[in-house]
Amino acid sequence: MIVGAGVAGATAAATLREEGFDGEILLVGDEPHLPYERPPLSKAWLGGTDPSIEVHPAEFYAAQSIELLTCTRATVLDIATRRVTIGGSAVAYDALLIATGGQARRLPGLSGDRVHHLRTRADSDALRERLVPGERLVVLGAGFIGCEVAATAHGLGVDVIVLEMADTPMERALGADFGALFAGIHRAAGVDLRCGVRVESVQETTTGLVVHTDRGAVECSSLLVAAGLVRDTDVWAAAGVPCDQGVLVDAGCRTAVPGVFAAGDIAAHDHPRYGRTRVEHHDTAVRQGSVAARAMLGRDVAYDRPNWFWSDQYEHTLQSCGEPADADELVLRGSVAEASFVQFGLRGGQVVSVLGVGRPAEVMAGRKLLLAGHPVAAEQLRDETVDLRRVMRPARA
Ligand SMILES: Cc1cc2nc3c(=O)[nH]c(=O)nc-3n(C[C@H](O)[C@H](O)[C@H](O)COP(=O)(O)OP(=O)(O)OC[C@H]3O[C@@H](n4cnc5c(N)ncnc54)[C@H](O)[C@@H]3O)c2cc1C
Repeated sequence: MIVGAGVAGATAAATLREEGFDGEILLVGDEPHLPYERPPLSKAWLGGTDPSIEVHPAEFYAAQSIELLTCTRATVLDIATRRVTIGGSAVAYDALLIATGGQARRLPGLSGDRVHHLRTRADSDALRERLVPGERLVVLGAGFIGCEVAATAHGLGVDVIVLEMADTPMERALGADFGALFAGIHRAAGVDLRCGVRVESVQETTTGLVVHTDRGAVECSSLLVAAGLVRDTDVWAAAGVPCDQGVLVDAGCRTAVPGVFAAGDIAAHDHPRYGRTRVEHHDTAVRQGSVAARAMLGRDVAYDRPNWFWSDQYEHTLQSCGEPADADELVLRGSVAEASFVQFGLRGGQVVSVLGVGRPAEVMAGRKLLLAGHPVAAEQLRDETVDLRRVMRPARA
């Protein structure tokens, strides 16, 4: 049984079949849709230019004999009898995968029709209705989702103000220098980005909202609260599955409870390289879903890939692989000021992280070097005349 019909759950179900499992697969999700991709919800889906976000078409589940239950929530787990209560009935499992993702963080006192959050397709659709030219949107929080929505909303002709407590956007993930680059990009585009601002309260009026901050009040027609993710572990913790801001799993996505596994955003994973991590990225959810499925079949597997994510804002794509904090030397290729660069992290002569903006081919080449553990000199990475795709190939005689 798989609880949570997002990308991790859908990938796990597909992997079970790919690996030759011919028993029953029950994929249970509480949303009304087929499993879908969330990244477009702040980008092309929100902007109205991506008509299809489903992970697999409807026929796939029937063809693979995967029973998909939508609009159904798992509410109780009993590990002694190996049963999960779904839709009021206790259903038996041989192996259980928890792939329930997370929810957008709610802030006290911020609710009402004009206050939005963004995690689900329904959230994105509701926000889209507010993105009308001339209306004003305040985005509370300049993390990835807040920044992506700001860019999309601005592209739709909406007047956008972003309020962020830190000194630069996406500072926790990118650091102050790259955060400052994106601050410049948003301001140059015409978004009113205000950093170092603390929101104190929000008041509803007959025509909109007034957001009170420590630096004065801002009027708007709607507000997006983009304040991060919360993992709801109550059902699993109550059953005795060890949890700590996520369901605790080993490298192979196994919990300490026999027959119970977890993958994707809900998992607090023990990564062989990085230690305990709680990652909120699409690629990790897909790959952990696949690893968990193989672990459910008793295979000796581990999710040991470097984390990979991207973010699209205006015409700029940021891509990142690995952890810059893992490096003992950082090497820059290109120009941060021109938003066209790759920063490589090196450790012991090997690439351990790659972070780039506007350089997809070089990021991909760097990612290959990282995955291969191929030795490379900092000078080669820095030198723009060196074709990074050729670094791994032997020189021709
Ligand atoms: C707006 C947005 C933009 C993003 N953009 C990017 C991006 O550009 N790049 C990137 O790398 N990542 C991005 N992400 C993150 C990425 O989408 C997530 O990491 C990924 O969706 C996690 O997949 P998951 O399957 O673990 O969880 P989810 O996708 O959250 O799926 C879990 C499902 O389980 C359901 N569920 C929860 N509890 C229960 C229950 N008790 N019973 C039944 N069902 C339940 C949930 O409703 C949900 O449908 C973005 C996320 C959002 C929200």
